[in-house]
Amino acid sequence: MPEFIDLPFCPHCGNRTFNSGPFKPWICDSCNFRLYPNVASAAAVFIYDEESRILFTERAHEPSLGKLGLPGGFLDAGETAESGILREIREEVGIPVTNLIYLGSFPNKYFYGGIHYDTLDLFFTARALSKEVKIDPTEVAAVHWKHRENIQEEDLAFPSFIQALGVLKDFKKKGV
Ligand SMILES: [Zn+2]
Repeated sequence: MPEFIDLPFCPHCGNRTFNSGPFKPWICDSCNFRLYPNVASAAAVFIYDEESRILFTERAHEPSLGKLGLPGGFLDAGETAESGILREIREEVGIPVTNLIYLGSFPNKYFYGGIHYDTLDLFFTARALSKEVKIDPTEVAAVHWKHRENIQEEDLAFPSFIQALGVLKDFKKKGV
């Protein structure tokens, strides 16, 4: 799996003199056009029910088809992480939540359409006000409410989720 995709043609002047690669900015030798392929922001959330079970989604598409995901996704331009994660919760699982609290951030790589996107995943916790989900079937195949201790790391969709689950244990001990 390539770490990055070679894009030889300059998107500004069209000459085959564009230097894409692992270092930024990507610079065109002909017209000096510069492109900064920056990290994308994404958000995800651990939603708890009254029995301290966490809502996991079963992913309906690649990457990580069939693995355990969390409600979340890429943040839109001009959006806060808080409003973005509430939007993603509405869109993907459709349940009302309260007590949204920031947990921490972990970097991730998201492989899509032949390209590895570097992301920074911002994690939250929240409490479910209802168990009635309305899933978006294009994103979520099913939901599973699971206790933290019943999760196998290899079942999780992304390494950042494993890291976040690790800090979640200590976070909950603080009684937040
Ligand atoms: Zn150029």
